[in-house]
Amino acid sequence: MPFRDLVRKAVWSVIYLLFILAPLLALLTGALPPSRNFWTEFSVALGYSGLAMMGLQFGLTARFRHVTDPWGEDVIYHFHRRISLIAVGLVVVHPLILIAAGSEKLAPPESLRDVPLGAVFAVISIGSLITLVIMALWRTRLKISYELWHIAHIVLAVVAVGGGLVHMVGWGFYLADPWKRALWIGMTIFWIGLLLYVRLVKPLFMLRRPYRVAEVRQERGDTTTLVMRPEGHPGFRFRPGQFGWLTLWGSPFKITGHPFSFSSSAEVDDGRVEMTIRNLGDFTSAIAKVPVGQRVYLDGPYGAFTIGNPADMHVLIAGGIGITPMVSMIRTLVDRGDKRPLILLYGSKDWESVTFREELEALQKRIDLTVVHVLSLPPEGWVGDSGYINAEIFRRHLPPGYADHEYFICGPNVMMDAIEAALGEMKVPLSKYHSERYSFV
Ligand SMILES: Cc1cc2nc3c(=O)[nH]c(=O)nc-3n(C[C@H](O)[C@H](O)[C@H](O)COP(=O)(O)OP(=O)(O)OC[C@H]3O[C@@H](n4cnc5c(N)ncnc54)[C@H](O)[C@@H]3O)c2cc1C
Repeated sequence: MPFRDLVRKAVWSVIYLLFILAPLLALLTGALPPSRNFWTEFSVALGYSGLAMMGLQFGLTARFRHVTDPWGEDVIYHFHRRISLIAVGLVVVHPLILIAAGSEKLAPPESLRDVPLGAVFAVISIGSLITLVIMALWRTRLKISYELWHIAHIVLAVVAVGGGLVHMVGWGFYLADPWKRALWIGMTIFWIGLLLYVRLVKPLFMLRRPYRVAEVRQERGDTTTLVMRPEGHPGFRFRPGQFGWLTLWGSPFKITGHPFSFSSSAEVDDGRVEMTIRNLGDFTSAIAKVPVGQRVYLDGPYGAFTIGNPADMHVLIAGGIGITPMVSMIRTLVDRGDKRPLILLYGSKDWESVTFREELEALQKRIDLTVVHVLSLPPEGWVGDSGYINAEIFRRHLPPGYADHEYFICGPNVMMDAIEAALGEMKVPLSKYHSERYSFV
């Protein structure tokens, strides 16, 4: 990993920790309320930490390129999911400890009218958090569409964090000091501001930088390539392997954009970009029918999945539609006249659905590229590899010195897990493999 990325990772990690710890430490300065028993104080600390971590989730998902680039967007979303569970755990454990410690604050009130406002908001906040977690973990099982889930996710997160803040201010124990109250209210405004930035400010910029579909190309494997040109602006440059968020029908203010890798060469300098999209669900099934001339919006580029050291052999491992970033890398290296050796291990269902089959065949003659097809349903008389890409296939096709090559993996999650395990077995260090997961949720 380049030294610059290591430094950026360290700097952002420290900033992240500061955002969580600083408001907690601030509570311990200035005039302090009379101390209570250990369990009460401990549970309150958990509640405050949980809320600070929840608030920062708005920052993690705000798609700030400087923050996400050193790790890659998929890693950031993975972290977002894991850290959210910890934050929700802290917030939920907070009242449970108080109940177990027999706190008189949680004694049942004589009538509903006696319930303090701080408690009402605590229930609203925790209720929203629990609903949010249930929907995030079991969205598919609950048959909730991605779009509906996305809107509910944002609303519940705002209610949870806003409710948590009102609860803290309403309870007023640590936040009796006006400046401490101002600090926490300011932080909450900042968190919600991040959300407004993503949902209002960024779309406003995108609105002024539209694209038009210039060509719709059918590809093998129920897949379509959209060729898009910037309209009235120069567009952006990307690195091969990166992706963008596409908004096709409607304005950029639409909550849900869809992520797709760029499949075109990064050397194109007129702003034209291509995305190659497989029909896999509601949104992607309509791509083949997109009319030429359709106005679209692109947010990008994002991601850290891109070609590495020119001296290393590059092993590209693609499963199904995971071929798109690889094709962008190959096309870019062809345009650059790059001399590094490339091996593409490409897993597909059957021979007829191999997207970019003919082009890859042709490109083998232009650069040092070897394409190995692995078919899970091979046709009769197929003499190539069949089944799934695994350690045995690596050994058959890769030159020895496995730990010296760089590996790029993109495909279905099961395939990626299996390949990462196989690379581990082959003693390939983690720093030598790069992956892009097509599932953020
Ligand atoms: C970084 C990245 C790059 C990708 N590149 C490509 C590509 O080059 N070509 C390609 O065909 N596909 C690509 N995908 C996958 C593509 O984004 C999804 O297949 C597509 O959004 C599914 O939408 P749908 O409504 O058709 O399917 P649905 O049936 O609604 O969804 C299928 C699954 O896709 C996921 N999904 C749906 N909508 C979104 C969304 N807005 N954001 C994130 N995930 C979503 C959900 O897990 C959902 O369960 C990429 C995904 C990621 C994360």
